[in-house]
Amino acid sequence: MNILWFQRDLRWSDHLPLQAALAEGQAVVLLFCYEPLLLKDPHFDKRHGRFIRESLQELSAAFQQQHHTLHIIRNDFLAVLQRLHRRYGVETIFSYEETGLPVLHQRNQAIQEYCHNEGVEWVRFPKVSGADLQEADGKRRWQQAMRKPIPSLDLSQLKTVSLGAGFTEHLSAVDDLHPFHIRDFHFQRGGFTQAREWLTSFIKIRSVQYSRAENNPYLSRYNASRLSAYLSWGNLSVREVYQASSKAIKEGFYSHDLKLFQQKLWLHDRLQGRWYEPPIASLPERWEEDDRFEAWKTGQTGLPLVDAAMRCLLETGYLIPRLRELLTSVLRQRLPEFEAEGWQWLARQSLDFDPMLLDAYRSSRAKRKFLNPVKEARTLPDVIHFLRIWLPELAHLPPRFLYEPWRMRPAEQRQYGVYLGRSYPVPPRSWIPRTVRKHSIAFKISR
Ligand SMILES: Cc1cc2nc3c(=O)[nH]c(=O)nc-3n(C[C@H](O)[C@H](O)[C@H](O)COP(=O)(O)OP(=O)(O)OC[C@H]3O[C@@H](n4cnc5c(N)ncnc54)[C@H](O)[C@@H]3O)c2cc1C
Repeated sequence: MNILWFQRDLRWSDHLPLQAALAEGQAVVLLFCYEPLLLKDPHFDKRHGRFIRESLQELSAAFQQQHHTLHIIRNDFLAVLQRLHRRYGVETIFSYEETGLPVLHQRNQAIQEYCHNEGVEWVRFPKVSGADLQEADGKRRWQQAMRKPIPSLDLSQLKTVSLGAGFTEHLSAVDDLHPFHIRDFHFQRGGFTQAREWLTSFIKIRSVQYSRAENNPYLSRYNASRLSAYLSWGNLSVREVYQASSKAIKEGFYSHDLKLFQQKLWLHDRLQGRWYEPPIASLPERWEEDDRFEAWKTGQTGLPLVDAAMRCLLETGYLIPRLRELLTSVLRQRLPEFEAEGWQWLARQSLDFDPMLLDAYRSSRAKRKFLNPVKEARTLPDVIHFLRIWLPELAHLPPRFLYEPWRMRPAEQRQYGVYLGRSYPVPPRSWIPRTVRKHSIAFKISR
């Protein structure tokens, strides 16, 4: 018996392990494991569990239509493999290669060792095209790989095995432990159908303003593709998205914007194939007691753009890259002692959390420059709308105070009904660039 193991590849199209299992022609068990080792990892949040569950529901229904069972099991893969191997004898495991978290690295090593000892073959497919993307002609080779025709997979030809009771679990059994089935309308919904809808609406309609939306926290919610979660959890492959956008370009849709979008897909794969360093180990809980870190985590630092960005991420799981950089810049430069914990926090809040991408940014030295939050607020387009949405307590302030509330004198605080330190925090002194601090009344008073 063979196993087809799904992880962050929750689709049935453009799926190399599925293609290999079909070509092999032998019976496979279709398997997804809600692995406790990942569920309790500090990078994981229930927003991810919910997205996975929504994706599994569709994947399971697609297989059921062809009379196949997708087995969803609440256990670590190694434990399931051991049971299956003892009972049925497993010959081959087909899967994508998942890395990027220390816990995955250790898990993969343990599986590899078990496979080696028991004579089980583990066929792993890299997620990013085989071409070495760091080479000088990496982009050209990547484009070639992206243009290769996608084989259509005939699920009716798949030979599958249905495991008996004791192995199988219905999704509701997962719900007993985790409330992943409770819908939250602030977040994008997982699954292939939703992914297709976001993709189609983007290439046919929303991409019209893509280049304007790039650094615009307000427009990006509508005019960026919003495909990152679908790519991260594998509802879509990068190749499918690339080919759909190429087709739209040929048909005469927004070629300038869509070409820029394809650049981003290239960046996605190039970063995936790059810097991998295991993340710094987590440090003690005393961090939780630190007010400044808590303020950063909850969007209460007193720096309006930083707070709005964090609140937006907390509530929707989505943020443009520039504001993710701003959050990490404050973390690195002002809270260096909390860096490891801070990255984990960002991972938990990002619906599109991708261990390899996050790690690429974490270990990138080029991005360690401090971004001045006041300057960013003044230069990014449409920031006023964004700030007013996410900072309702400041919504009616005129722009100059909205960017720098600490400039308000007591009379102005009374006039607008916003009291520094009560309605909205004053940021720690050292967090404000000196040039900005010079003019600010709140700091003069506190001196
Ligand atoms: C500190 C930091 C952490 C990040 N962590 C993640 C993460 O965990 N998961 C994740 O998917 N993205 C991450 N990104 C990249 C980027 O922020 C998101 O991919 C993007 O905001 C998703 O929005 P979109 O799908 O509308 O992007 P679009 O602009 O429509 O781009 C299309 C696709 O290209 C890729 N892409 C776009 N921008 C980037 C970029 N700057 N770097 C790499 N790929 C990109 C994404 O797959 C995205 O879905 C991170 C960026 C930074 C600066």
